Amino acid sequence: MNLPFKQFSGWSIKSKFTFCSIATLILVVSFIWFYFSQQQQKFASQMMENKIKETGVMIATTIGASFKVLDFTAISQSVEGMQKNPDLVYLGIFGRQGNPISSFNPEILKLNWQSILKKQDLFYVEEILFYSTPIKFENNIYGTLLIGFSVKKIRAQINSYTNKGLIICLVIFFVGTLLTIILSEILTKNLVRLKDNVQSFIPGEKFSGIDIEAKDEVGELGFAFSKLIGEIDLVIKNLKEQSQDLEVAKEEAEKANQAKSEFLSRMSHEFRTPMNAILGFTQLLEMTAHSKLNDNEKGNLERVSSAGNHLLELINEVLDLSRIESGNMKVSIESVDMVPIVDNVISLSKKMAYEKRVSLEYKKMPEESFFVEIDALRFKQVVLNLVSNAIKYNKPDGSVTVSYEKRGNGMMRFGLRDTGHGIAEDKKGKIFKPFERFDMDAESIEGTGIGLTITRELIELMNGSIGFESSLGKGSFFYVDVPISDKAPLIRIEQKAENSHIILNNDKKKILCVEDIPANVELVRQVLTKSKHCVELISSCNALAGIEAAKKEMPDLILMDIHMPGMDGLTAFQKIQEIEEIKKIPIIALTADAMTGDINKALGMGFKDYITKPIDMPKFLEKIDNILA
Ligand code: ADP
Repeated sequence: MNLPFKQFSGWSIKSKFTFCSIATLILVVSFIWFYFSQQQQKFASQMMENKIKETGVMIATTIGASFKVLDFTAISQSVEGMQKNPDLVYLGIFGRQGNPISSFNPEILKLNWQSILKKQDLFYVEEILFYSTPIKFENNIYGTLLIGFSVKKIRAQINSYTNKGLIICLVIFFVGTLLTIILSEILTKNLVRLKDNVQSFIPGEKFSGIDIEAKDEVGELGFAFSKLIGEIDLVIKNLKEQSQDLEVAKEEAEKANQAKSEFLSRMSHEFRTPMNAILGFTQLLEMTAHSKLNDNEKGNLERVSSAGNHLLELINEVLDLSRIESGNMKVSIESVDMVPIVDNVISLSKKMAYEKRVSLEYKKMPEESFFVEIDALRFKQVVLNLVSNAIKYNKPDGSVTVSYEKRGNGMMRFGLRDTGHGIAEDKKGKIFKPFERFDMDAESIEGTGIGLTITRELIELMNGSIGFESSLGKGSFFYVDVPISDKAPLIRIEQKAENSHIILNNDKKKILCVEDIPANVELVRQVLTKSKHCVELISSCNALAGIEAAKKEMPDLILMDIHMPGMDGLTAFQKIQEIEEIKKIPIIALTADAMTGDINKALGMGFKDYITKPIDMPKFLEKIDNILA
């Protein structure tokens, strides 16, 4: 790399530009000079002409005076006297009729002198300036005077003066132009070279260097560039090394992660196997030998069972936490209606709430479905943890209220307000930290202290957030915000189809149960396990979703609830009859309406059968088996 000097010692660009400017100034001055010399030439000619005119008039007046007194000797003497003037090359005196009276050098006047006389003014014949003027005295005209002056000398003088000026101007112009060209060439040459040099730099590739030798600012610029490029090169080399190190570290981390994940799954298996035996045999003891045990032994057995369950929960949560921390927790986010999930958790928690004497309430919005982008299974885990906390840390006769709120930022909020002890200000910052348990009843209330940590991690994996408000002694409000599904408004009806596929045995008959209450679907599911046929049960939580599911799944039988929010079962039946591909599917009405009028109406419309709730199981099974057969 040929680097120019850091401290340049040549001419600076500024001085080169100053030099150029001076050259240009000289050019301008020379032009001005040339212009004035031209003007001067004109002025000199003017002066000469005026002088001739004055001389002519003076001679004419002198001769006119001699004419008056007819003193021809004086005229001849005057003419002779004029001859002494070296510049006067011709003099002619003509009478009133133009007749020549006297002259010297008459051979000069080769022209037609009579026509010239009429001109009575200045005119040039080659290098002689003639002037003709009347010979006048006291208002009498006696003839015409014609004088000729040689302008050869004066012209030569003016010309040599002009030529010198012109030559000087040309020389200055030439030198100035040459200098400007040379300097701009020097300036641009180095700049262009610098540009080419810099352009040839490709990060990470071998660089031939900055190759300019300018000892001016361009040189300094080149020096700065070469330093910069050197540094960039160094940074790139470092980055390359770092990225290689990172690559190695990444590979190692991936290997470690893989090992960790294998370890986790082994641990999970290893822990669960003995737990299965502990809990299984405890349950067996409870079922078989319960009556033979005394109270103390029964108490001990309950303690084993409770401790075993607690241990299992702890194992599950610790494994979940490790999975999250090692990045092995994967969520599959889909557009899901969160309402049935919450409803399901609430119904699962009813027993616990009852035992703790806590009431579970809803504070619902008018809509029945809220489609959000979540992993349904993991969201259920989140809701379960929040609901169980709200019950666990509540006071006897307290309440838990479920609420939904559409937030302005595209998020849907699921909230739980409890009337428990609340959380003290100084504890609020630690609530999501693992193994932190603050409740004043923590000793007596079963828990692991990891539930909220996992909950927050899961919610964040689902692009949501969790928060709470709490005041000691009054209770807490825990909430999670999850993204609202933007697909929901477009295909809202379709998405209401919260379908669940439960394959019961191997025969493969599809039954679609259109029913809004999950407990009823569960009942149907359990009854169908007793069916002669292998049944795949699909459930839809409303009529429109049911129609969509029927089109998609083509079931062998539809069980249609009649009273549902939105579209009722009868209307849904009519709609199905309008759809060619599904209108032949047998539909059984399944409803709590047991009035004969309702039954006849439905059968009249074309329902295959009508089953009233509560279901008579043997009859229900028989009807279904017959239709499926
Ligand atoms: P766990 O319930 O298993 O102890 P969590 O992580 O779910 O673990 O909760 C951590 C701690 O936060 C609990 O031990 C309790 O002290 C406090 N906490 C959680 N939810 C509530 C609530 N709704 N009201 C009062 N305290 C709560």
